[in-house]
Amino acid sequence: MTELKATAPQSTADLASTVHGHGHRLTPQRHAILEAVRKAGGHLTPEAVYARVHARQPAISRATIYRTLDFLCELRLVVAMQWGGQKYYEAAGEQPHHHLVCHTCGAIEQIDHTLVETLFATVDKKYHFSIDMDHVALFGLCATCRKTIGAARG
Ligand SMILES: [Zn+2]
Ligand SMILES: [Zn+2]
Repeated sequence: MTELKATAPQSTADLASTVHGHGHRLTPQRHAILEAVRKAGGHLTPEAVYARVHARQPAISRATIYRTLDFLCELRLVVAMQWGGQKYYEAAGEQPHHHLVCHTCGAIEQIDHTLVETLFATVDKKYHFSIDMDHVALFGLCATCRKTIGAARG
């Protein structure tokens, strides 16, 4: 279970307060990056985001896009996750969601927040630890792979 916390440069905090001060207004560049992630409607690698944005706005550098993705994560407009050594970004929905990731075939299934909410609440009660993860990957074996492995074992 891994969640990436944006390791953004210090200036990002200043940017965040600036954006908050302006009622969450985003610069056209940031807006273009956010829109690219939204329109893709799934999980994108930073490289995929770059390809999409760069096609429309060749002036935007890779570094700017990567920084902006972390910044958008801080604003919770975008959620990030890491699996298979690769970072993925996705537009944040109205409700948090999580994923079941098959480590054999790589299939990704989306699950509702209510399913993990109970676990989070229990942890809070028992350990007084407040989990603030809004995009979690739970790794395991999907139904198809379980069948295949079951069949192989006879
Ligand atoms: Zn997701
Ligand atoms: Zn599988």
